[in-house]
Amino acid sequence: EVNIMWFRRDLRLTDNAALYHALKSGHPVVPVFIFDRNILDKLEDRADRRVTFIHQALEAMQQQLAAQQSSLEVYYGRPAEVFQQLTEKYKIGTVFTNHDYEPYAKERDEAIRIFLRTKAIAFKTYKDQVIFEKDEVLKEDGTPYTVFTPFSKKWLAKLNPFYLKSYPVEKYAAHFYRQAKLVLPSLEELGFIKKEDHIPPQQPDESVIERYDQTRDYPGQVHGTSHLGVHLRFGTISIRQLAAKAVELNQTYLKELIWREFYQMILWHFPHVGKGHAFRKEYDKITWRNNEAEFERWCNGTTGYPIVDAGMRELNETGYMHNRVRMIVASFLTKHLLIDWRWGEAYFAEKLLDYDLAANNGGWQWASGSGCDAAPYFRVFNPRLQTEKFDKQLTYIRKWVPELESLEYPAPIVAHEAARKRVMDVYAKALKN
Ligand code: FAD
Repeated sequence: EVNIMWFRRDLRLTDNAALYHALKSGHPVVPVFIFDRNILDKLEDRADRRVTFIHQALEAMQQQLAAQQSSLEVYYGRPAEVFQQLTEKYKIGTVFTNHDYEPYAKERDEAIRIFLRTKAIAFKTYKDQVIFEKDEVLKEDGTPYTVFTPFSKKWLAKLNPFYLKSYPVEKYAAHFYRQAKLVLPSLEELGFIKKEDHIPPQQPDESVIERYDQTRDYPGQVHGTSHLGVHLRFGTISIRQLAAKAVELNQTYLKELIWREFYQMILWHFPHVGKGHAFRKEYDKITWRNNEAEFERWCNGTTGYPIVDAGMRELNETGYMHNRVRMIVASFLTKHLLIDWRWGEAYFAEKLLDYDLAANNGGWQWASGSGCDAAPYFRVFNPRLQTEKFDKQLTYIRKWVPELESLEYPAPIVAHEAARKRVMDVYAKALKN
């Protein structure tokens, strides 16, 4: 009899909750990863950076497992079919895995749980990708928070060293199922091509975290933020390890990690936000202009607003965009152009290396005003003032919009003041009744 460890967004062999429990259980543990066709088939771009990222993370795990005379088993298909195959190949006692809070993942896991039950196989799941999940930080009356500040206060009050302790997986490393190293399917076999530029290093840079509160708002600073989003997304870094560093080095950084958990908690309790609905239902009444030509100019960074164009070009070129600029471009799309935030959300979902449904949706709904604890709708970022405040020397803008001062640079797509008035009217009308 064997146990299965099913990796998803926790691609590491250290400090991993489900893996620790699997190895400790006594039976040999077969580590499994599934390239899920339900997800991959939907990706437009065959040179998707995230697929390369996952592939590289699996190769690294494969090397480490070879040192334990074990091997990752990597499948390509739909989880239901793969589990059918696994039950034919092995006599399985228990499948171990870590919680995943997205709507698709919840449905997938429920289906697998039911399937396994028919085979008398247990399905055990663990909290791993957050410090506090779903129901751990609630209001006194047991309902979920919808405002960040009280949530973060409660979160901090609850934190103690127990929650930051790592799982000593190494202690049980001898319990991996022994087999010769298997060959991973290549990216080409999965129907993708390699895109490995702009993948940030995995180790947190402590000096960045130390200075984070002073540097984080300036997109011109190359090392102003940690660039760990993708590693948190796919679990190539442990949140416990990172949060422990934040506690030691910088409270502002810790607060950002709490934002991440806030949005994950919101997505769990209010799954409608992940299914195309505004958190505040009345915002679904807004009449968007949805001009396709303008959307195109926003996407390719030719709006004539330098800070917006710089951000979109950074995104298109690298798969990353600075947080301050994400807020500006999102506000610009929804408020200045009156284009549905869902269009922007989908574009980011396609392009961001650190794409995460909960954080991305939270960010977009915040910017459009429709989210929990969102910017009030009458707050419309002024791109020029934002630039004066956060990119005064135009370091960031000049990097991405080198033709700024030439005749080639387009005239503004809309006048700021007229756009501001227009959005106020449209929002006021929609929210009035
Ligand atoms: P740092 O500033 O170094 O922060 C460290 C980590 O904290 C981040 O990696 C991230 O995991 C977390 N974090 C920071 N800010 C936030 C936040 N506001 N909400 C949730 N988590 C946060 N973040 C994503 O991880 N994935 C997304 O798809 C995403 N989409 C966004 C869309 C919009 C419109 C906006 C306004 C923000 C979005 N964010 C998203 C949040 C934030 O912009 C990124 O997490 C951050 O820019 C990533 O860079 P970093 O790793 O250097 O972050």
